[in-house]
Amino acid sequence: MKTVLSCIQPTGDLHLGNYFGAVQNWVRLQDEYKCFYGVVDYHSMTMPYNPVQLRENTWKMVFYLLACGIKPENLFIQSLVPEHIELSWILGCTTSYGELTRMTQFKDKTEQLRETDKDAFVSLGLFAYPVLQAADILIYHADYVPVGKDQEQHLELSRNIAQRFNHQFGKEYFAHPEPLFTETPKILSPADPNKKMSKSLGEKHYINLFGEETRVRKQIKSAVTDTGEPSNGGMSAGVKSLFDLLRACNSMDAHDALMADYSAGALKYSDLKESVANAVVGLINPFRERFEALQADKKSVKNQIQDASGEIRKRAQQTLREVREITGLGSLKG
Ligand code: ADP
Repeated sequence: MKTVLSCIQPTGDLHLGNYFGAVQNWVRLQDEYKCFYGVVDYHSMTMPYNPVQLRENTWKMVFYLLACGIKPENLFIQSLVPEHIELSWILGCTTSYGELTRMTQFKDKTEQLRETDKDAFVSLGLFAYPVLQAADILIYHADYVPVGKDQEQHLELSRNIAQRFNHQFGKEYFAHPEPLFTETPKILSPADPNKKMSKSLGEKHYINLFGEETRVRKQIKSAVTDTGEPSNGGMSAGVKSLFDLLRACNSMDAHDALMADYSAGALKYSDLKESVANAVVGLINPFRERFEALQADKKSVKNQIQDASGEIRKRAQQTLREVREITGLGSLKG
């Protein structure tokens, strides 16, 4: 069975974009591949953060993912497998300073920090982030990594690092992880359908996957349908985005009926919004119920994930034993 690795940062809420763009796909992949899904708390230390919140968000993300259908045995918390850091150091020694400076995410995040403070602190951690990501992938000898366009450059770097390591030590040790492109919809912000749904834009720009029904309905009811730009007779971005949501929720009967109304020039936005709200609520209510049930059994769920991380750690430790051998690190031998 081929291996898949994917990770998510514990950044608080999970929204519809995260679900349709990533998590739903992760759940499906579990039937076909051996999957490793990491909640990557080490990565979250690369931007300013609060320690209490980091730990809280890490567990919250674990519960969210379980509620969405990720199997507990496939889920680990990155810092419970500290071998990721050891491998990251070793791989950092086969990564050039030059290639890291070309990573666009580093440039974007540096700019983001400097937007509010031109002297903002930019850490070595942020710079070295793609090396840790390479370690996350290579430590499990992952064959495939489901990636969005924004992470393609980092995966390419992971492949280069693997190749250089193999070349340097004269051994085909690390496989070259391949991207796994899956058609996933891009979900747009209800408050601005010209932008991607995202947490970083603020609360009104995303629909919380575990949100309260009344708030979710209200957000959809007030979704922007007309942004004022000339539509050239075509469908506005806001209306298209609502139809896309219906499709993503697999409400195809409602989608097709409303699309027929649209073609006949008889579409009422209030009907469209009502259908989208019903579809979204129908999707997320069971998630919230599962989340609450898991929360009620918090302690045993946490123990289960700690055990799963321990099991997954054994694979990481095996890799490190081999890597230590290959790279000449301390051993009782010799
Ligand atoms: P955010 O910061 O808004 O939570 P991230 O950049 O951390 O989003 O993305 C986490 C995952 O969710 C990634 O795989 C990303 O491709 C996916 N994702 C995020 N926003 C969207 C969106 N609006 N539509 C589709 N997929 C998305």
